[in-house]
Amino acid sequence: MLNRIDLRGSRRDPRGLLPRAQLDVSVAVERIRPVVEAVHQHGFSAIREATEKFDGVRLERLRVPAEAIAAAAEALDPAVRAALLEAIKRARRVHADQRRTDVTTQVVDGGTVTERWVPVSRVGLYVPGGLAVYPSTVVMNVVPAQEAGVEGLVVASPPQTANDGLPDARVLAACALLGVTEVYAVGGAQAIAMLGYGSRGVAASDGSAGADLLDHCEPVDVITGPGNIWVTAAKRLLQGRVGIDAEAGPTEIAVLADETADPRHVAADLISQAEHDPLAASVLVTDSLALADAVEVELDKQVAATRHDERVRTALSGEQSAIVLVDDLEQGLAVVDAYAAEHLEIQTRDAREWAMRVRNAGAIFVGAWSPVSLGDYAAGSNHVLPTGGCARHSSGLSVQSFLRGIHVIEYDEAALRDVAGHVVALANAEDLPAHGDAVKARFQG
Ligand code: NAD
Repeated sequence: MLNRIDLRGSRRDPRGLLPRAQLDVSVAVERIRPVVEAVHQHGFSAIREATEKFDGVRLERLRVPAEAIAAAAEALDPAVRAALLEAIKRARRVHADQRRTDVTTQVVDGGTVTERWVPVSRVGLYVPGGLAVYPSTVVMNVVPAQEAGVEGLVVASPPQTANDGLPDARVLAACALLGVTEVYAVGGAQAIAMLGYGSRGVAASDGSAGADLLDHCEPVDVITGPGNIWVTAAKRLLQGRVGIDAEAGPTEIAVLADETADPRHVAADLISQAEHDPLAASVLVTDSLALADAVEVELDKQVAATRHDERVRTALSGEQSAIVLVDDLEQGLAVVDAYAAEHLEIQTRDAREWAMRVRNAGAIFVGAWSPVSLGDYAAGSNHVLPTGGCARHSSGLSVQSFLRGIHVIEYDEAALRDVAGHVVALANAEDLPAHGDAVKARFQG
């Protein structure tokens, strides 16, 4: 079912070896640009029009009433409630440890630089709701923002015809469990535009419907959360006006395994990520031909029995998924490092030692008892992770995503006098003499 790439005895450069699913976001940007512009201009009426077109729902209001959020929590299946509460507790533990403390550096006598960590004021968290619904994503977005100390938290999630035009009830219940009260029933590019520009519209005075709406969404400073290509395209368009987290592409799992790995577990884990998306990538890198063969046999068995077998089969047989055979784990390590997977499992002898040597991965799952599914829901780690090779330069969502480090500079007269000559020399070297003059003015006359 999986392509095989045999690197044994080869010195091929592992960079670019594994093709990635192609998603042309720039084409999608042009398709959704009019929607984003319309929301900017006309606010609510444009959001309503796009929602009718893309979600088949006519919105009477944007904001989900408090009673609907409370009712969703009330009606939540007790097992799902217990699982969400446990996931929230574990995520809080991990993310609380990510909080930053201000640091003051005494640069010289009378001269200090303090780095002050300040949360952004208001963030918009997008929770997808097209093909599937993701209460776990509410947890993964809200917890780090709350632990960072963000005061204004807004969730936007597509309206569901099955829930009377409200977002999915489990998404609403997760908001209730986390104490989030500002939730909007909007999805897709129109949701991202609403978060970025607000829902009033600069041309609201033209009498657009909803200009006098009481529950308008005010603009946010940062937008985070995964979504489909339309959501990603809108985030790309809004970037700069607001901060965004990484652009999320289709999910990926790579497994680095030797002959000690259990083929049933490896196959199950490859399937678990393929279940997300027909474009998902599942990659096994191994120095054991016996394991590779056994995993193939297991895949045939397990895919036939899995619920989303068609989607899984498409993902596993796509060019983005493969079994890579290597001479040894050293070569395997080079392959997974070059690939920079969103999720990397290490199922080898001495797994922890190998994991310590990995340079590029969104998250690393060590040993037989740490499958990616654990991290998707309840390890305490974050599941919003860099895809498409972005793990070479970016991290997953964390408390840091919602903080800014502001430098606070405080020098006294003597400390400034001491360094004045250097400032003037550098200002002159850059032909910016007024910079030097601003310092000299303090010590003249
Ligand atoms: P979504 O909420 O991202 O998109 C649904 C919205 O798309 C709808 O509300 C609709 O308005 C809009 N839309 C639909 N068709 C359109 C069109 N032709 N033109 C413009 N807009 C259109 O939900 P989804 O589609 O299910 O996608 C969710 C994605 O997020 C999946 O790829 C999933 O794998 C990913 N995801 C990733 C993570 C992660 O942590 N990396 C977690 C959860 C989900």
